[in-house]
Amino acid sequence: MKANDKVDAARVDLLLSELRLSGIKLVWSALAATADKEGWPAARFLAALAEQELADRGQRRFARHLAEARLPPGKTLAAFDFDAVPMISKAQVQALAAGDAWLEKGANLLVFGPPGVGKSHLAAALGLALIENGWRVLFARTTDLVQRLQVARRDLTLEAAIDKLDKYHLLVLDDLAYVAKDQAETSVLFELISARYERRSLLITANQPFGEWGKIFPDQAMTLAAVDRLVHHATIFEMNVDSYRRKAALKKAAGPGRPSARATIKTSS
Ligand code: ADP
Ligand code: MG
Repeated sequence: MKANDKVDAARVDLLLSELRLSGIKLVWSALAATADKEGWPAARFLAALAEQELADRGQRRFARHLAEARLPPGKTLAAFDFDAVPMISKAQVQALAAGDAWLEKGANLLVFGPPGVGKSHLAAALGLALIENGWRVLFARTTDLVQRLQVARRDLTLEAAIDKLDKYHLLVLDDLAYVAKDQAETSVLFELISARYERRSLLITANQPFGEWGKIFPDQAMTLAAVDRLVHHATIFEMNVDSYRRKAALKKAAGPGRPSARATIKTSS
């Protein structure tokens, strides 16, 4: 190497930092050594660096989107037993996981069923798959989100708070039915539903399909208007099966080798 070919490595690191090329910064000197040793053409070296930066950015974006989504951990589509819910087609769920067909037009997914049938699991797993496919998702317990929006309303910042949720292509409202009566009075949920209508998607899980929704909104007219907007472009999953939790508990109680049909489980209700 000629003396004036010498590159100041610290200077390169500085430049790359300034340019926010942290992916390249991480690998350039090792890649440069390989390129020198193997006599790569300069264009090949440059392409390898650019690819590294792109891959690195993709990974960091995914990590960021995953962290902001607040998904319950460990719930994946791979771990979801579709045999337990025969009315739900795996192919349809996989199509939803691609996102394009419904998130682009702000369509909704409504998931109904009694407790323990896998509504939250399915919602979280879909959320994760969508993030993997580049979409942005926020998973929220409905009561928590409603509470936050109520605080915003009191501070006269409800509109801004709802606007902020626009960055999420999908907003999961888990357990709609548990919105408390006193939370209903202010109708922030209605404002949210109206604001997202035909623009940004909602995934709502609830124990009751619409019947009990009168309790969630201040009056019947608003309930009807909310339901109308939600179902206008929606896929509806009705998971009317036995609780997966209960079935799992039964299986465990039966133990290996004993027929599960003979197991009993005590429930206190
Ligand atoms: P829900 O939200 O309908 O009350 P959850 O999604 O919380 O039910 O499911 C209860 C538990 O059972 C969770 O641990 C979930 O991972 C598990 N579970 C439910 N359905 C399934 C399924 N079909 N395959 C795998 N695990 C399931
Ligand atoms: Mg749930």
